[in-house]
Amino acid sequence: MSQPSSTQGRQDVPLLDQTLGQAFDATVARWPEREALVVRHQGLRYRWRELAEQVESTARGLMALGVAPGERVGIWAPNCAQWCILQIATAKIGAILVTINPAYRSAELEYVLRQSGCSWLVCADAFKSSDYHAMLQTLLPELASHPLASERLPDLRGVISLATTPPAGFLPWTMLAERAGQIEVAALRARECALHDDQAVNIQYTSGTTGAPKGATLSHHNILNNGYMVGRSLGLSEHDRLVIPVPLYHCFGMVMGNLGCIVHGSTMIYPNDAFDPEHTLRTVAEERATLLYGVPTMFIAMLDHPLRDRLDLSSLRSGIMAGATCPIEVMRRVIEQMHMAQVQIAYGMTETSPVSLQTGPNDDLELRVTTVGRTQPQLETKLVGEQGEIVARGEIGELCTRGYSVMLGYWNDPEATERAIDADGWMHTGDLAVMDEQGYVRIVGRNKDMIIRGGENIYPRELEEFLHTHPAVAEAQVVGIPCERFGEQIVAWIKLHPGHSVTVEALSDWCKARIAHFKVPRHIRFVDEFPMTVTGKVQKFRMRELTIAQLEGH
Ligand code: AMP
Repeated sequence: MSQPSSTQGRQDVPLLDQTLGQAFDATVARWPEREALVVRHQGLRYRWRELAEQVESTARGLMALGVAPGERVGIWAPNCAQWCILQIATAKIGAILVTINPAYRSAELEYVLRQSGCSWLVCADAFKSSDYHAMLQTLLPELASHPLASERLPDLRGVISLATTPPAGFLPWTMLAERAGQIEVAALRARECALHDDQAVNIQYTSGTTGAPKGATLSHHNILNNGYMVGRSLGLSEHDRLVIPVPLYHCFGMVMGNLGCIVHGSTMIYPNDAFDPEHTLRTVAEERATLLYGVPTMFIAMLDHPLRDRLDLSSLRSGIMAGATCPIEVMRRVIEQMHMAQVQIAYGMTETSPVSLQTGPNDDLELRVTTVGRTQPQLETKLVGEQGEIVARGEIGELCTRGYSVMLGYWNDPEATERAIDADGWMHTGDLAVMDEQGYVRIVGRNKDMIIRGGENIYPRELEEFLHTHPAVAEAQVVGIPCERFGEQIVAWIKLHPGHSVTVEALSDWCKARIAHFKVPRHIRFVDEFPMTVTGKVQKFRMRELTIAQLEGH
């Protein structure tokens, strides 16, 4: 009989029992003169010693404003140096950083500020088509009055702007450094000493591929250890330079990126305020980066960029692709064409800090490109069937994770927490997976993504991988839409490689010749882009809506 689909990660790698601040201070003490942070679009470079000065004065400035332990401080800004500084400064004073998606508009902003009860918000001035100042002025007409008393956001005491000269009502970021002198260094130390690593340090609103955003509340212990374990698997050291083009508001950037580097003393490099393939490629080449992170669509954009061939990317050795299904072909190309011979795949979710499975440097190539690896140290994985029973190896089940990485809960939402984490401490991810005899896991889809057509179960992931093997196809996304005759019909959205073309008929015939008839997409649509969340997840519900509207002729 086959073994059950449950595994335990290594137990011989001890967890850290430090706060974020303690881990940061240890790195500063160890490598004060090494480069800590490079922010290309701001022209900023800090050594660990210099970054520590910024962090300490920001922390004391926040204490001078009266920010107490446990209070929530929001950050609504694209990637920048102040983001990283605030992340560590809030952790040092025991505040909880609420990371807000820079693409949010005022209704979503209002929701997260109210739901988390933020007392302060730090915001950028503008980003892409978002004018943060204008949105806040509309949301908070009373902004210019002191003290701030807003009916809509009663907990909010003030807004700090990163702009050089912010409009009336906004406090300038530089004010924090100016006020730092009001707080003795000893007072900050006393505050830090009273903290415990089990306390909440961060609330991240989950990405919104499903339902209303929920505030995953994470402790120092959760995220510091996850950054540590992810970096350990990559072999990060003080000699590494990691390019982080993923957004900081999401755990890929702020945990796997920032905290991974902070614990291991590696250099954090932000190529730009938001992802673009050109800046990222240039940054890798010019900064002689050794590692690069990205969601699959970012790697696809870089692989297809004309600069990729012309720039010297030979300093790269590794990195992580994660956040969404990592197509096998894209992994192979990243290894062959971007010098990332040791690239790894990580799998996880915000609620588990995020990473729970990861491929390792010693896994053979085939497993490294086709699976999300094995259970990370100090964690457990099991795959369960509909009745909660553990399925046999090779069978599909819902992936569940248990261990140090599981969030404290959803902020102020005990019912949602109870639905997600069961009485035995297992986080139910909603992802469907298969585990092989060696414990390697393949993600085959999300529970609700599964298409049931005429009684046949179809896993979009399988079909997407297949479509990728067509030479003209750069990216494929598959969803099901309602259909009277079959219950559901398959829809494929396809992005073609630049310079390639294929007709719907030709692609459809190509499929028919190779896969079972019930898996052949009924509708094929060629697109330039997919509806995405900022963290690189395709919003399949949007694809469904748009396809249905198009077919109905709206
Ligand atoms: P988030 O909480 O925004 O990080 O989203 C978590 C979800 O992203 C997971 O539940 C998965 O559906 C998906 N995901 C993350 N990493 C991977 C991966 N390597 N392969 C497939 N799906 C992934």
